[in-house]
Amino acid sequence: MIKANVKADFPILHRQINDEPMVYLDNAATSQKPRMVIDRVTEYYFQQNANVHRGVSSLSMAATDEYEAARQAVSDFIHAEGPDNVVFTRSTTESLNWIASGYADSVLQPGDEIVITVAEHHSNIVPWQQVAKRHHAKLKYIRLNACGRLDLIDAKHQITDRTKIVAINHVSNVMGAENPVAKVSHLAHQHGAVMVVDAAQSAPHMPIDVQALDADFLAFSGHKMLAPTGIGVLYGKQAVLAEMNPVQFGGEMIDEVTQQTATFQKSPLKFEAGTPNIAGAIGLHAAINYLSAMGMESIHDHDLQLTTRCIERLRQLGGVTIYGDSDPANHNGVVTFNVAGIHPHDVATGLDMEGIEVRAGHHCAQPLMDVLGVESTVRASFYFYNDATDVDRFIDALSKVKEFFT
Ligand code: PLP
Repeated sequence: MIKANVKADFPILHRQINDEPMVYLDNAATSQKPRMVIDRVTEYYFQQNANVHRGVSSLSMAATDEYEAARQAVSDFIHAEGPDNVVFTRSTTESLNWIASGYADSVLQPGDEIVITVAEHHSNIVPWQQVAKRHHAKLKYIRLNACGRLDLIDAKHQITDRTKIVAINHVSNVMGAENPVAKVSHLAHQHGAVMVVDAAQSAPHMPIDVQALDADFLAFSGHKMLAPTGIGVLYGKQAVLAEMNPVQFGGEMIDEVTQQTATFQKSPLKFEAGTPNIAGAIGLHAAINYLSAMGMESIHDHDLQLTTRCIERLRQLGGVTIYGDSDPANHNGVVTFNVAGIHPHDVATGLDMEGIEVRAGHHCAQPLMDVLGVESTVRASFYFYNDATDVDRFIDALSKVKEFFT
């Protein structure tokens, strides 16, 4: 259950924007942070700050324990085999880049194929373009069905014995559609390919079970799920992590260094060169505790109620094109739309004048914008601390913006 006074936990939700009480609807870009996460990070700096994995001092050992407890918490949160399957990174973007440069770089041969969908975030496109170019591999795209999910029939055509990597989003950051990841994993594995899942938009909003998804790799960012910026997760099965090369080299990740050579630690430490984002990991642990206490199923249900209300009210307003599935249940807190005759940036600016914070632009998904036949859209994205009043304030403000421009 989402607790009744949940907004009280988020100090920023009480500020004003343009003299209006703020309604924050840009959660797909980043989430707000509850006081207990902010307090936990502050407490770490006040009381526990030390470098990890390098000292025998009490403070250093305590910091190491906290950092490794965070790894265990992430492992439990995504139902990984264990904490050694969890690598801390800076973000989803860094995780995906490391898979491309550390794993794909060592397995791809000329003529091999990487398969993604047309609805990927640029973070799950550009690293594959780059690695494909380096190895004369081919980057192929699975098209979408009418619901905005990847088309499974097309997936069966695109994924072949030449496919080495399949990399898809779990939930689209533009349309909120959830892809049938487990089915695509099955398909990928039938052809001996490795399955990479971009969970940036699913990990904050629904229970994640990497083993049920049968993902070989899975990536997400802490900042979209209440944690500080600069902490991300790269999950990998042991077999692929063992094959993957580190992308950064230096302290912490080595076993032994001589003048000319070095041997590396086992994963996950072999990937975490230099001083990691200790405070970020501890903040992510606090965020996971908060989310788990709320219950990921409850969060998912709550998001669904809000998206349903939002889509129904947008339809009543008229003159609004909503992208993605006509069924609000397949939007996972994300509603992307355009208003006839008004530029998306004008819509977002008009909403901002009323204190409503949304996103306008291509949402780092230009190939998808091409498929949708638009250059940009407006996106309102919800989280569990939003409520029906927020939806209504948004719709009322949008109706004022419509009146102003037409
Ligand atoms: N993938 C998806 C689906 C996203 O929505 C985002 C961010 O919006 C990213 C990847 C990149 O996340 P980050 O900027 O935290 O690396």
